[in-house]
Amino acid sequence: MRFDDQRIRMVETHLIARNISNKKVIDAFKKVPRELFVSDEWREFAYKDHPLSIGFQQTISQPYIVALMMSLLDIKDTDRVLEIGTGSGYQTALLAEISSEVFTVERIEDLLMNAKKILKKLEYKNIYYKIGDGSLGWENALPIVSEFNKIIVSAASPKVPEKLLNQLSVGGKLILPLGSINNQDLVVYEKQVDSNGNDCISSNNCGQCVFVPLIGKDAWADL
Ligand code: SAH
Repeated sequence: MRFDDQRIRMVETHLIARNISNKKVIDAFKKVPRELFVSDEWREFAYKDHPLSIGFQQTISQPYIVALMMSLLDIKDTDRVLEIGTGSGYQTALLAEISSEVFTVERIEDLLMNAKKILKKLEYKNIYYKIGDGSLGWENALPIVSEFNKIIVSAASPKVPEKLLNQLSVGGKLILPLGSINNQDLVVYEKQVDSNGNDCISSNNCGQCVFVPLIGKDAWADL
């Protein structure tokens, strides 16, 4: 079956049939060619609902989990999104389809450069790239940005990095796999202001997941 047909079938059987109903998210998955973000060796499996190796002991995330995280964030066309863990760049493309701007941070330079090459070829113009430790967020981002409407962390952390919460706007949402190295909960945090004008954070546990570790100053130490 052609990749275009496999893509539509993947959306129907793994996303829509499993209650992903956000139209923008579904349309983005129908459009972005996942086969371009995996190496030749794995290409024939591009539309299985699995994580796949992208080298450096990292994986391209399972489509269903990416769709679930994007749906839980309820991303608007006007949102500025911070993505921690660019990996292959596949989720970056999906985010760029449905938001205003994506700021993506990856600690492994080779992965970031490879993702950037593919995303440029696909002509995305609303993505900004940084090599660094995303557990510290992206301070002093250029173009000048101090806060993000949505933050998506694609690697597992034992806690919520403080700086990520600081860089979330009021009314904004952050999603993060929280837990041990082997098993995590997908947690959505929302920032609001209380009656005294102070920021307050609420959280909602949205089920179990397994991600590669977030390695950085405010997450796991290098393994
Ligand atoms: N969503 C990506 C998958 C990411 S896998 C995709 O679909 O391809 C998680 C990524 O997080 C890996 O590439 C890993 O190198 C990166 N990562 C781990 N710790 C990080 C940190 N502190 N800052 C930035 N990236 C980090």
